[in-house]
Amino acid sequence: MSHAPARLDFSHDAALRSWVASANTPETDFPIQNLPLGVFRRAGSQEAFRPGVAIGEQIVDLPAACAAGIFSDAVAASLAGGEPGQLNAFMALGSAARLALRHALSESLSEGSPRQAALQSALVAQASAEYAVPCRIGDYTDFYTGIHHATAVGKLFRPDNPLLPNYKWVPIGYHGRSSSIGVSGQKFARPKGQTKGPNEEVPQLRPSHRLDYELELGVFVGQGNALGEPIAIDRAEDHAFGLVLLNDWSARDIQAWEYQPLGPFLAKNFASTISPWIVTLEALAPFRAPFTRADGDPQPLPYLDSEANRRQGNFDVSLEVLIQTQAMRDAGLASQRLSRSSYRDAYWTVAQMITHHAVNGCNLQPGDLLGSGTQSGARADQAGSLLELTAGGKNALTLANGETRTFLQDGDAVTLRGYCERSGFRRIGFGDCQGQVLAAKA
Ligand code: MN
Repeated sequence: MSHAPARLDFSHDAALRSWVASANTPETDFPIQNLPLGVFRRAGSQEAFRPGVAIGEQIVDLPAACAAGIFSDAVAASLAGGEPGQLNAFMALGSAARLALRHALSESLSEGSPRQAALQSALVAQASAEYAVPCRIGDYTDFYTGIHHATAVGKLFRPDNPLLPNYKWVPIGYHGRSSSIGVSGQKFARPKGQTKGPNEEVPQLRPSHRLDYELELGVFVGQGNALGEPIAIDRAEDHAFGLVLLNDWSARDIQAWEYQPLGPFLAKNFASTISPWIVTLEALAPFRAPFTRADGDPQPLPYLDSEANRRQGNFDVSLEVLIQTQAMRDAGLASQRLSRSSYRDAYWTVAQMITHHAVNGCNLQPGDLLGSGTQSGARADQAGSLLELTAGGKNALTLANGETRTFLQDGDAVTLRGYCERSGFRRIGFGDCQGQVLAAKA
């Protein structure tokens, strides 16, 4: 098993075109160089959810492609095991199986492929599909690797002591809840919880009025590790399957009252939304970035340090948050962008999150999800949450239609987008990660 980050090969060639015409448009998130995996069925049907791969505006139905004899026996076998409609068994096979599938799809979907006729019948239009969470997520851990977010939020909660002294040494995280993770399109009722206003004597149970989003990446674990067996940093990426966008919806008023001393709890676990397509580590290979530390910051402890991690431990993913309010929807107005940032600014890398998570012997399992924490840029307008953009609700944002927001209102839909661009390579994207806030339950 290779312990080097994924290599560049023919499947990354920017000149490669697909016989699926929509995969060749400049604006598509899903050119033939991407080939992300998800789980889908025809919307409104009683069909079983099944794994697929996005190509342009289409989906390759993987079981149908297997039945059409597109894949070698080895690739077909890699897709055959496990629970129906869950990618866990395939994820557990690690990078070799992922790479074999990628290469087979790249060849079969390329212009001039002799397999076009056979594969054509295995395509389903994305416009007619609905998605499910792509695997059984056993455990979900949310990290806190956005140092600009950690500093800005720290200032709001603790003006005198924004960044706690452990931050630059240990990749901070908490164990979240997987049962409430949904896929793009998720709608959820505004959560209720205990909140206590600054001038109130006692808390009350009521709907959150400081509901927020968090702009994050999610890392799906591929191969697991045995309980008691740590993961060396040079092997850490062998355990990463791919990345999704993740919105860690957060109720700031519930959070402020409950978070000490054990951290987030009910402020975070009422809903979390991921994008439907997992962009694999192989697809991301051209978009790696160095891991660096600012002058004066401590270097990571040796178990979190390696030459490969320093050279290209980070991922250069451009990120955006957009909002569409109910009034915008009613007026036929498109979503409006609130901020942009990049995952390349993360203070801890994917490899460091994995290695740190397992350093005590904790066992990661195929399909586990690791959140990156909110990815905010250095500038105030690059913030990945409303908490930061509005300075804790003090400075309302004015939207293009004249509405204002401090925190989310009922009917607001939030969309996260992510994409990778680099000269000499084809742009790839993550697709939308959208969720909508509904009124609190009576
Ligand atoms: Mn978070």
